[in-house]
Amino acid sequence: MTNFPIAEFENQRTPFYFYDIELLRKTLDEIKRFSNYPGYHVHYAIKANVNPVILEEIRKAGLGVDCVSGGEVETALNAGFAANKIVFAGVGKSDWEIELGLAHDIECFNVESLPELEVIQEIAARMGKVARIALRVNPNIDAHTHHYITTGLAENKFGINLEKLDEIIDVAKMMPNVELQGLHFHIGSQITINDPFKLLSEKINELQAKYAEKGISFKTINVGGGLGIDYDNPNENPIPDFKGYFDTFKQNLKLSEGQEVHFELGRSVVGQCGSLITRVLYVKEGTEKKFAIVDAGFTELIRPALYQAHHNIENLTSDGDVEKYDVVGPICESSDCFAENEMLPKMRRGDIIAIRSAGAYGEIMASQYNCRRLPLSVYKK
Ligand SMILES: *Cc1c(COP(=O)(O)O)cnc(C)c1O
Repeated sequence: MTNFPIAEFENQRTPFYFYDIELLRKTLDEIKRFSNYPGYHVHYAIKANVNPVILEEIRKAGLGVDCVSGGEVETALNAGFAANKIVFAGVGKSDWEIELGLAHDIECFNVESLPELEVIQEIAARMGKVARIALRVNPNIDAHTHHYITTGLAENKFGINLEKLDEIIDVAKMMPNVELQGLHFHIGSQITINDPFKLLSEKINELQAKYAEKGISFKTINVGGGLGIDYDNPNENPIPDFKGYFDTFKQNLKLSEGQEVHFELGRSVVGQCGSLITRVLYVKEGTEKKFAIVDAGFTELIRPALYQAHHNIENLTSDGDVEKYDVVGPICESSDCFAENEMLPKMRRGDIIAIRSAGAYGEIMASQYNCRRLPLSVYKK
């Protein structure tokens, strides 16, 4: 459970991000402990948060990095991650981004389409390089049983459909400047039960068996990310169930001798260690509703506005009677609302509020809309 150093917060300009680095370390320890199986490698999906203090902890813990843009590859390199632990995914890689990856000999490009594969071959040939690649496969896991899976369906901008896979594998194998080393999957995000990962493992087993018959094997299987966190109970569940997650793969995914499995975890690594700290500016009494107007908005945490996501909200400085509030920000958009009908201890001007579980897809998505200042970060080490 995060204990907030409230005295330190009093004189701090709000809003700001508060990072519990101790919790991040514990989280990383559990990841290492429960992924300690032969051939298991974890890459951090850096798009979740690139705060330098956080990256330093993740680098020290020995994780690799999963990037989805050239900018992220540069950020990872600048943070001291070894190029041979950087993988690069994304449906729309620009030429300069492919060149950057090749120039640094990154570990692997996760390729999402045939035209992309052709461009990588062309650029690698021009640069006299060999690009290591994995093909991102769209495993078409049933959306009806698992409606939260949004990226693993057929006819989706991500990945290569199963019917096209044979053809693309054949093409890749003929390319002189491309080394096909694996298959890549990523079925979605904020997945809080293990069934979909079991289904994914079974799908991968089928595929591997099918290709083994044709004499095709893969050095790596990348199962993507997507493990969720408990947004409603950050105090009770500060660390996701990594044991259950990795054991699901251990029990269900069949590997051949020496084969590697790669994981790309983002949210589950950094989500719970961050909170957005904000002050109550005004409490406005409407006719039916009470609005707590705070000094943070979707410019600091866009998930509620963008995905109707709910984050746990705590008033750190009030223990008054509980009342019902809409907690809203100052941005000139109606969607700038953190929560409706939230039961909170009586809110007063100046109260310090923590919006929890903001470590992933919080700071990294901050914007300066309305010419707002980018917020600072405070750390508990
Ligand atoms: C976003 C993303 C991840 C990380 O997803 P989380 O839900 O944050 O774990 C992993 N791999 C790919 C390809 C992604 O796009």
